[in-house]
Amino acid sequence: MQTHLSDIAKQLPRGEEAESILRACVHCGFCTATCPTYQVLGDELDGPRGRIYLIKQVLEGEPVTASTQLHLDRCLSCRNCETTCPSGVRYHDLLDIGRAVVARQVQRPLGQRLLRNGLRTVLAHPRAFKALAHTGRVLHAWLPGRLKDTLAATQSDPGQRPAPRHPRRILMLEGCVQQALSPNTNAAAARLLDRLGISVEPIREAGCCGALDYHLDAQEQGLQRARLNIDAWWPAIEAGAEAIVQTASGCGAFVRDYAHLLERDPLYAAKAARVSALARDLVQVLQAEPLERLGLCAEQRLAFHCPCTLQHALKLAGAVEHLLTRLGFHLTDVPDGHLCCGSAGTYSLTQPELSRTLRDNRLSALESGHPELIATANIGCQLHLDGAGRTPVRHWIEIVEAALDSQPTHA
Ligand code: SF4
Ligand code: SF4
Repeated sequence: MQTHLSDIAKQLPRGEEAESILRACVHCGFCTATCPTYQVLGDELDGPRGRIYLIKQVLEGEPVTASTQLHLDRCLSCRNCETTCPSGVRYHDLLDIGRAVVARQVQRPLGQRLLRNGLRTVLAHPRAFKALAHTGRVLHAWLPGRLKDTLAATQSDPGQRPAPRHPRRILMLEGCVQQALSPNTNAAAARLLDRLGISVEPIREAGCCGALDYHLDAQEQGLQRARLNIDAWWPAIEAGAEAIVQTASGCGAFVRDYAHLLERDPLYAAKAARVSALARDLVQVLQAEPLERLGLCAEQRLAFHCPCTLQHALKLAGAVEHLLTRLGFHLTDVPDGHLCCGSAGTYSLTQPELSRTLRDNRLSALESGHPELIATANIGCQLHLDGAGRTPVRHWIEIVEAALDSQPTHA
């Protein structure tokens, strides 16, 4: 695609990058048919090719309107279009660049600004969010629909975490929302790793990965969180930690991107590259271990919802399914497994109607094989799908641990 970037766009720190991405797009439209928002809305501007065209216009200096912003906002950042693009267009990077430029030129209505700032303030701070979540549970029956769906009435008991005792050490991203709403996920992962001879070294100073801020009009604040996490992990990395594990694929995808997002930061570029190289989704760590030693023979029927961040960003489609099958679970067929459930970070709160349509479509596909439970690998998808009150949805590591605990013990 030919480009004529404005002088202002050429001066942007990521101006050259945007131009090279735009030039890689040949406008073929192969990506459009598989875009979830295009499938629901049927408008070219709500598909990847249309959005690329809108961003091109913005960077070429044409007027930016609230309509431009709306079409970009409706994008789920699911990256399904990248998986189907024959030209390797790095759409999500272009979207990040375009959204930042648009956010500077179009002021959102007051309600939207309050919502976005509120989400950033509350969700990324685990202590504040835990307190609010607790209040929400007490008042659950009186909450409005969207909040009620998102905030499950109960929270799983995290149980005890084993103290570090093995020479093999890994770090774990504790995250933000997951700490408050599903604290058992990281605890279950730590216990299973401990059984396999790997200790999780707690680094309490590391917190939210930064994706929340980054995707809510506050990119610099998101990068600052990345720098704080790097500083928190660095001494343990130098002491020989073998990996940084994430149990939420959304956070994992963002940590994997630290290297790219901080490559122009002279103080952090090298450290960010090291952190991204050490980042592993939990399934990557476990699939390399002798799981057969656990002696698990599970028989539950599960449907696996593969989060977009796991399959399209981290390129780990099939990995959890393979691991669960290895452990004896029966995986049901899930049609259109490449499609997004509509969670997409805070999308379920900023675009509630579209998000609910996508969720209901995905749940129907997931339930078509009559599973007992739905397993997934990302807290956002888990809460969003579970909030419909249909088939229960759990993180796969909690399902594995529960099956281990229900095994008959042999003397
Ligand atoms: S498939 Fe790739 S090259 Fe074709 S229009 Fe979409 S982004 Fe551009
Ligand atoms: S990231 Fe997802 S929603 Fe956005 S354009 Fe690509 S396929 Fe469509």
